[in-house]
Amino acid sequence: MQLPREVIVGDKTLELISDICKKLDFSDSALIVTGPHTCRIAGQKAIDLLEDKGISVEGMVVSSSAMKDVEIVKEKITEFKPQVVLGIGGGTKIDVAKLSSAHKGIPFMSIPTTASHDGIASPLVSIKGLNKPYSVMAQSPMAIIVDTSIIIQAPYRFTASGCGDIMAKFTAVRDWELAHNEKNEYYGGYAASLSLMSAKLVLENADAIKPEAKEGLRILLEALISCGVAMSIAGSSKPCSGSEHLFSHALDLIVPNSALHGEQCGIGTIMMAHLHRMNWKRIKETLQAIGAPVTAEEIDIEPEFIIQALVRACEIRPERYTILERTNINYDSAKKLAKATGVIN
Ligand SMILES: [Zn+2]
Repeated sequence: MQLPREVIVGDKTLELISDICKKLDFSDSALIVTGPHTCRIAGQKAIDLLEDKGISVEGMVVSSSAMKDVEIVKEKITEFKPQVVLGIGGGTKIDVAKLSSAHKGIPFMSIPTTASHDGIASPLVSIKGLNKPYSVMAQSPMAIIVDTSIIIQAPYRFTASGCGDIMAKFTAVRDWELAHNEKNEYYGGYAASLSLMSAKLVLENADAIKPEAKEGLRILLEALISCGVAMSIAGSSKPCSGSEHLFSHALDLIVPNSALHGEQCGIGTIMMAHLHRMNWKRIKETLQAIGAPVTAEEIDIEPEFIIQALVRACEIRPERYTILERTNINYDSAKKLAKATGVIN
């Protein structure tokens, strides 16, 4: 079990970056992986703060999360030999920093600039060009610094998307229980409870999650971090990713780069909850209250592609048993499901 050692959530916490690096014994050198946009809002500031304290810093700007970006960062690590790699940005920058540092056997710190998914705290990465349309193991962040004064400035769509990724835990845990009961798979009750508790907290506090609301954002961030920790405890994505994620991954293959990961997972959760005979209406109402999309139209995806993604979801990870396999979903039942939940008309 690999767990983060320092988790800091609050206003202006980026300013603590040098202290945290020193506390963890990274007093000599650090490599920062950031994006063109995130460099302006946080990356450059982090470089300045670390240099002020005498830490030797190199910054790298990446714009995608493909294997070639990971290779470039790995080369830089070989050349510069930093004590730690810091990923500063949204999902792609954090994933590139996480995987390249894991491959080179050095620690990694996560400094997210959006709250759009649970990868900010998890040991998993989603990288293009790995021949796997889903997340794979890398390493847990040694520290997570979440500066709410930066995240609150990101478009609200990212925050709403993060809530979709959190709602997914309701069906992910059900799928994991199903695999345990029917296929005798390992099931970790502690990891499952932690993941489920995060989803319940967001569901119960949905009213607080709205644009520019700090308290709601904090609830979401704590939930996302707890889910990352749940995956570290389980040593797999199972407590946080089930059939709803398979649907989202299938959608990524059919219509690449159309909607945000959490938006697709939220819509997937509504449909998978229906299949599990759970209270899918409550999940849909929660997403609506938060302002997250609940229909194909809202994420600008053709109804036909929703049906195709439901049918193809089982092929994404054949080894992962979920409600989709259990119910033997086919084109007709998929269409019926998408219509019954109002995802398509
Ligand atoms: Zn996810």
